Amino acid sequence: MDHYDPSPKALRTLMTMYWSAQGWRTPPVTPAPADLGRAVAAGVMFDRKRSGGHDEWVAAARRTAAQTSAREVGDAFLESLGSRRLDLRSALGSYAVARALPDHGCEIRPGNPWCVVCGQYPESAEDLDILNFERFKWGGVRHYQVPYAAFDLEQFARAPRRGPDPEDMRLARELVEVLRGLPPGVPKGRAAAAIGMLPGNRDQRDVLLDVLALAGIWRAGWCSPAAELLAGPDRPDPAPMWGVDERALREYLPALCQPGAAAGTPEPILRVPRR
Ligand SMILES: [Zn+2]
Repeated sequence: MDHYDPSPKALRTLMTMYWSAQGWRTPPVTPAPADLGRAVAAGVMFDRKRSGGHDEWVAAARRTAAQTSAREVGDAFLESLGSRRLDLRSALGSYAVARALPDHGCEIRPGNPWCVVCGQYPESAEDLDILNFERFKWGGVRHYQVPYAAFDLEQFARAPRRGPDPEDMRLARELVEVLRGLPPGVPKGRAAAAIGMLPGNRDQRDVLLDVLALAGIWRAGWCSPAAELLAGPDRPDPAPMWGVDERALREYLPALCQPGAAAGTPEPILRVPRR
């Protein structure tokens, strides 16, 4: 498996294409052919869009999820905390979505141009550069879109990784302790501020919370785990739940479990009755 080069030098063309010190570049800056060639050779940019039908993207997402494990994306999430390798952080959210994705055909209902199961259009042509930009810049922003989840997990298989180091683990333990201490109903902004000890900016911390919520590790009320979001168009609305879900934590990030939180112990998660 060929790896891509995640160094700032290799990423410079991709990052400056879409972003400046003032924010988004609209329209994006077209790179010089030589710069584009180097970025493509480094594996971080792409020379064409990728078209696919609904079923192709679903199959790609499910296939890549089956080739990855919860522990593998969990370890990459941990490594992202101190290293600021946001590309490694993204895979946890995409894995949670892709794993929960049922094998299904495009189900269009009257009045909806997209599939009611997964939200995809029947056909799409994806600009892989912008997906990769978002991946490296924020840890992804559209994990819930099937083409992104498929692309992200394919890239994850090509991502150089060293595994979490002691500083990553220290940050991770602090992160989970802070999340455990947050009150039910805490707004996302306050939760993001509470994890300000993590290297990165506010937008990156926002995405981090989304990723944990999609994986079901942190039950936040305002974002359901992917497994519930993809339970089908006619699913009952689940009651909001709050807190760190020890069962999901054990699956993805076992090193961070509370002592004694072995399989079979009661979940310390708080279920808040609907008003
Ligand atoms: Zn669908």
